[in-house]
Amino acid sequence: METPSTADIVIIGGGVMGASAAYHLAARGMKNIVLLEREEFFGQGATGRCAGGVRYQFATGINIKLSLASLPMIERFKDEIGQDVNYRKCGYLFVLTDPKDVTQFEHNVKLQNKLGVPTQWLNGDEVRKRLPLMKLDDALAGTFNPNDGLVDPNSVVMGYINAAQRLGVKIINHAEVSGIRVSGDKVTGVETVRGPIETRSILNAAGPWSAQIGRMAGVDIPIQPIRRQLFTTTPLPEVPPDFPFVIDFAQSLYVHREGDGLLIGMSNEDQSPGFDQSVDEEFELTNLEAALQRMPLLQKAARAAHWAGLYEVTPDAHPIFGKTPVDGFLIVSGFSGHGFMHGPIAGKLMAEYILAGTFQTVNVSALDLARFAEGRLIQEYNVV
Ligand SMILES: Cc1cc2nc3c(=O)[nH]c(=O)nc-3n(C[C@H](O)[C@H](O)[C@H](O)COP(=O)(O)OP(=O)(O)OC[C@H]3O[C@@H](n4cnc5c(N)ncnc54)[C@H](O)[C@@H]3O)c2cc1C
Repeated sequence: METPSTADIVIIGGGVMGASAAYHLAARGMKNIVLLEREEFFGQGATGRCAGGVRYQFATGINIKLSLASLPMIERFKDEIGQDVNYRKCGYLFVLTDPKDVTQFEHNVKLQNKLGVPTQWLNGDEVRKRLPLMKLDDALAGTFNPNDGLVDPNSVVMGYINAAQRLGVKIINHAEVSGIRVSGDKVTGVETVRGPIETRSILNAAGPWSAQIGRMAGVDIPIQPIRRQLFTTTPLPEVPPDFPFVIDFAQSLYVHREGDGLLIGMSNEDQSPGFDQSVDEEFELTNLEAALQRMPLLQKAARAAHWAGLYEVTPDAHPIFGKTPVDGFLIVSGFSGHGFMHGPIAGKLMAEYILAGTFQTVNVSALDLARFAEGRLIQEYNVV
């Protein structure tokens, strides 16, 4: 597609955030929307590399409310957007082995239940009973919500991209943004490798690369790219179809079904920020050893695939929505490792903010960029 010379809004980034925002803006009637993605395909950034987990189980009210708005949108996705996204409600089961975590999760479950999320509390024996394939002698307790599960990330991105295109959004690949024009304190356009576009409104939806885009506009955005990696196994017929998304919280080790095998990941606490997306083979061994301890059955499987991607991490592990000090330069980013599941509602909220001036469906005004400078950080515990 030809790069247009002007746009009413330019969205930077064709991951779940940019795609969802483009669709929701167009669905509310906005015209002359341009979405720019530097890669050949959409969802090649964090979104396409993510584990596909969707959950209601969070430790802060705002994240629970985002899930309460977003996950039903994923359930209705086929009817509304016309794309099957394969929502499998296998539940998330957090396994707790540290007394400190037990106390924190007791609080989390109370908060979730209060907000209408039917998370169940499990004692150690109940955890072991539900996960007979795992060695969990040290499990003190667990939490399980049957409505958490797995969804196909690429289907969500492509569903939104195709629906946005049908509504007239100009969506352009191979269109890296190389600069942002600012005059006084207002944006006036973007520079791309395919030529400039004049615009008074830009939405930074560049995920782990959002700080780079911010710098182009002279805006400091505290989002760091942190590598996270995972691997999948060859088929393991012993794993039942309803095997949940298990998180061994103290080790930040997770396991869920992927095809006929498993997908396994673990957070490297020593990972320094950077854009390297190659697999750290040494840490993969650490991950494998931890997984084998928990699930000796893995000895029967081989590695099928492995990859790494980047979390887009803010200082309080909560996202950033809305305005920046530069007029017209907006942001939706920094979901710190759980943005895929919140992508649907995040795009809708940005459409509300851009077209009506307020966040209507969920009040995310506390998640503004200014909170970092003003010391209004939010604390989240459930991010692995
Ligand atoms: C290994 C891993 C596992 C994860 N697991 C989960 C999970 O189970 N559940 C969950 O909800 N979340 C998960 N996440 C987090 C989730 O993937 C992200 O929060 C979410 O995908 C962020 O979406 P985004 O659109 O902001 O970013 P991205 O998907 O990264 O999209 C940003 C886009 O911007 C483009 N871009 C960057 N710079 C430019 C430029 N200069 N010009 C034009 N385009 C540009 C990039 O190419 C990219 O396509 C995981 C992440 C990783 C890495």
